[in-house]
Amino acid sequence: MSEYVPNLREQLRERVCRAAKEMHASKLVAVTGGNVSARLAAAEFLITPSALPYEQMRPADIVLIDAAGERLDGSLPPSSERRMHLAIYRKRPDIGGIVHTHSPYATALAVAGRRIPALLPEAVIAVGGDVPLAPYARPGTWELGETVAEYLAKRNAVLMEAHGLVAVGANVEAALETAIVVEETARIYWLALQVGTVRELDPAEVKAIIETHEPEIARE
Ligand SMILES: [Zn+2]
Repeated sequence: MSEYVPNLREQLRERVCRAAKEMHASKLVAVTGGNVSARLAAAEFLITPSALPYEQMRPADIVLIDAAGERLDGSLPPSSERRMHLAIYRKRPDIGGIVHTHSPYATALAVAGRRIPALLPEAVIAVGGDVPLAPYARPGTWELGETVAEYLAKRNAVLMEAHGLVAVGANVEAALETAIVVEETARIYWLALQVGTVRELDPAEVKAIIETHEPEIARE
């Protein structure tokens, strides 16, 4: 009896499903909020389905789409934010995964119209600097994707005004890790604001941290 060896597509479906469940378990989203994707090939992407609770999600539910957002394989409709994911992949050929969350502290700052300053070296390494705030664009549109993608040209995370957070990475696991680091940084920023003046890292130090870790950031 030969052992079943899943192909690349099925392996990536499992990884996207696992990252989506982990995103939910880490309380970065509730019930069906947010979405997760990975690049399978130049013009093939795997993305979480629309409106399916993460607790019920199985690898077979992850939808295969093309660069226009049309479904190529899968029985469920793909995430309504597929255009945003695709616009980002177009702008960042170096990335392999995207995680979009509504994590509470990061989203609270996005609702308040605030960016997350460069406060912690760990966050600077993950994001590549501060976490900027992209101006509001309507969910589900190409316009949202294009707006967000502009800000992701030089960062691995961005806040979307009145919406939430997007994090990107070399793969879906790295994108999730950055989303977690950003939410933790947003929480610390929030707490520090209660204490008094928040000290942002010196821009020269931010530059030095990025330069020191650049090979590592690029390799991830
Ligand atoms: Zn959203």
